[in-house]
Amino acid sequence: MTASVTVRVPAKVNVQLAVGPVRSDGFHDLANVFLAVGLFDEVTVRPADALRVTCEGPDAGQVPLDAGNLAARAALALAKRHGREANVHIHIDKNIPVAGGMAGGSADGAAALVACDALWGTGASREEMLEICAELGSDVPFSLVGGAALGRGRGELLTPLETGGTFHWVFAVADGGLSTPAVYAECDRLRGTAAVPDPEPSSALLAALRAGDVAALAAAVGNDLQEAAVSLRPSLAATLAAGTEAGALAAMVSGSGPTTAFLVEDEAAARKVADALRASGTCRAVRETSGPVAGATVI
Ligand code: ATP
Repeated sequence: MTASVTVRVPAKVNVQLAVGPVRSDGFHDLANVFLAVGLFDEVTVRPADALRVTCEGPDAGQVPLDAGNLAARAALALAKRHGREANVHIHIDKNIPVAGGMAGGSADGAAALVACDALWGTGASREEMLEICAELGSDVPFSLVGGAALGRGRGELLTPLETGGTFHWVFAVADGGLSTPAVYAECDRLRGTAAVPDPEPSSALLAALRAGDVAALAAAVGNDLQEAAVSLRPSLAATLAAGTEAGALAAMVSGSGPTTAFLVEDEAAARKVADALRASGTCRAVRETSGPVAGATVI
C-alpha cells in the first residue's frame, strides 16, 4: 500500500480580472485570465484513522485546520463520490501567502484532490476532478490545470491559453489578508448604480501571452477589483508606487489582494524591484518568481 502521496501546487496571478454585474445568485460573471506562478504549496496525504489536517509555514497560524479547510473539503468530496471514508492525514507545507489573492486555499483543495485520488487509487477522470474542483470554489479548477487559462462564469469555466514564453514577477505580501467577498462588495459599492458592461477578455492581452511579449502584456493587464482592494487597504497605493518607481513594467493588485504583483522584464529587473520593495517598508515580504508553471502535480 502507498505510504504517502505528495502533490506540489502553484499560486496564481490574474493578469486580467474583468468583473461583470452582480448575478441573481450573488456571484459576478468574470473574464479571468489566470497565470500559474512558481510559488508552491506541497500537500501530503497518508492513511489515518480519521480525517485530520496539519499545516506548517510562515502563515500556518491563519489556516483553518477543521472541515472548513479546502483540502479537507476536497478529500471529503472525493470520498463521498466513491463511497469510502476520507480517513487521511493531510499535511500542508504552506508557502503561498494566505488570504493574499493568490488562490492558496484553492491550490490546497486541488492538491488534496489529486493526492487522495492517487493514494486511494480512485482513478477519477479529469472531467470528474474538474467537476469536484468547481464545486469547491471558483479558483480551484485552475489550480488543477495550471499554465495559463481564461476563466468565464465565476471563473470556473476554463479554456487553456497558449503562452509564448516565461514572464517574470515580483510579489509584495502585505500584512494581514483581505476577504474576497468584502472586496467584491466594495467593488459593487464603488460602482453604485453605474451600468457595468459584460466582462470580456482583452484581445491585446491574449495576443501578448501567446507571443511571450512582456511589454505588450504589461500594457494590457487589468484588475477590476484593484480600486476596491486599495479602497479597503489604502496603504497598497504606496506599495504599487514603490514597485513602479523601481522599474516594474506593470504594477497591480493580485486578484482580491492585498498581495501586489509586479511584472518585470527579466530576473535582473526582478531583483531590483524586489530590493526596492523590501527597502520601501510598505510590505511584509517580497517574493520573486515566474510563470507559467504546471498545475497540481504528484512529486
Ligand atoms: P483567492 O485568490 O482564491 O480569492 P486568497 O488567496 O485570497 O484566495 P486563501 O489563501 O485561499 O485566499 O484564503 C482565504 C481563506 O480561506 C482563508 O482566510 C482561510 O480561512 C480559508 N482557507 C480554507 N482552506 C485553506 C487553506 N488550505 N489554505 C489557506 N486558507 C484556507
